[in-house]
Amino acid sequence: MSDQPRVEIYTKTDCPYCEKAKDLFDSKGIAYETYNVTDDDDRFEEMVARADGRKTAPEVFIDDELIGGWDDTSALNETGELDAKLGIATEDDGEIVDHRPLIIAGTGIAGLTAAIYAGRSNNDPLVIEGDEPGGQLTLTTDVANYPGFPEGIGGPELVNNMKEQAKQFGAELKNGIIESVDDSSRPFRVEMKDGDVYTADAVIAASGASARTLGIPGEDELMGYGLSTCATCDGAFFRGEDMLVVGGGDAAMEEATFLTKFADTVYIAHRREEFRAEDYWVDRVHEKVEEGEIEIMKNTELTEIHGSQEDGVDHVTLVENDKGHPTDRLDDPETEQFDFDVGAVFFAIGHTPNTDYLDETAVRTDDEGYLKTTGGDGGGQTETHVSGIFGAGDVVDYHYQQAVTAAGMGSKAALDADEYLEALERADSSAEEAEPAAADD
Ligand SMILES: Cc1cc2nc3c(=O)[nH]c(=O)nc-3n(C[C@H](O)[C@H](O)[C@H](O)COP(=O)(O)OP(=O)(O)OC[C@H]3O[C@@H](n4cnc5c(N)ncnc54)[C@H](O)[C@@H]3O)c2cc1C
Repeated sequence: MSDQPRVEIYTKTDCPYCEKAKDLFDSKGIAYETYNVTDDDDRFEEMVARADGRKTAPEVFIDDELIGGWDDTSALNETGELDAKLGIATEDDGEIVDHRPLIIAGTGIAGLTAAIYAGRSNNDPLVIEGDEPGGQLTLTTDVANYPGFPEGIGGPELVNNMKEQAKQFGAELKNGIIESVDDSSRPFRVEMKDGDVYTADAVIAASGASARTLGIPGEDELMGYGLSTCATCDGAFFRGEDMLVVGGGDAAMEEATFLTKFADTVYIAHRREEFRAEDYWVDRVHEKVEEGEIEIMKNTELTEIHGSQEDGVDHVTLVENDKGHPTDRLDDPETEQFDFDVGAVFFAIGHTPNTDYLDETAVRTDDEGYLKTTGGDGGGQTETHVSGIFGAGDVVDYHYQQAVTAAGMGSKAALDADEYLEALERADSSAEEAEPAAADD
């Protein structure tokens, strides 16, 4: 016990990434101390000082060394360096650790639903958590449209319930990230970022999608210092500031509405005239506009974020043109560029499907990178172009991207995989039956 390094985690209330950090250490059986900085100014100042000025939780320390936020901790975990720092690294890199009938990539709603079904079908699924354990829904405190919860339910709570349900049916959840899948022979060879290798007869890709960024000046330096892709995680740190939300879909509307709890005024910059978001969210935003808590900047795009890691975001540069998409019209004399003071910026501009680990397989993707599946009616809707690899949830679905649709596709993928595995078993047993007859001749 005493050999274990000292792990400290600064957290705050309602912080999904803090929960992910704690879950990660829990899954490794590592004890840690937590300090909640919410409403504790001294602890907050202490965290900022120890974390080189970063004002975002969590901040993780191992034996006084700053590891960083969730992204840094998770990146270190991917390479196996976190285990080395914790003194729990294993020596079996590159060797086949285990064979499973089914490996599921992702513990979002799609992966966990697939795990529940696959566990019940005795397919002994190994479910890999990836760099966002629990998936996107862990970033929202308020899921009001998932059937069966008339009062709504918190995203982390829904995901944790699903994890428990999947484990009850025999699914094994494992921290780690899949680096690649090799489909050149069977079983599939599934290589993890930490070097471990698994083999599997079937794979369900339920790897979802990751938050997009803009690639504009100021972004890299200020991410975590006033720029964030998660309002529920970081909004409270900028209490009393003016805040800018970039985007025009459901996530942008939800985040802007949420941020009114903390902001002086929330500004939404959207590059077009019309929002893409559901009417429900647009109506809620308009209510807040009437109450003076939100202002909408249509046909406006963010081009630069100014500030410093010491003092956070100071102001932003925006461009505006009534015809929309102003950055495509920078030469148009009607495009106006202006600076605008805000204390925090939140990106809510959609997602990129996570399919890198399938790059060397023959699965096909569309122009945006979403995984192509058979679709249509009847069985096998979730099959990709590689027999034995199935796709479910936001990694396939560029259109609906909802928890309930991800769950639906997860169940379909598990049922399709079960049929595939049964057919494989039947083929193996008939081959075995045929073999001795040939030998007897
Ligand atoms: C802020 C926010 C609020 C939302 N609110 C709602 C709502 O109220 N209602 C609603 O219906 N929907 C909501 N959504 C949408 C909903 O969260 C998604 O549609 C749903 O989570 C998609 O589930 P998924 O399992 O397909 O993917 P994800 O949730 O994206 O999960 C993907 C999983 O794959 C893992 N992964 C990725 N790459 C790898 C890899 N290489 N190896 C192993 N694992 C990997 C990730 O770590 C993660 O666990 C919201 C989304 C956001 C961002």
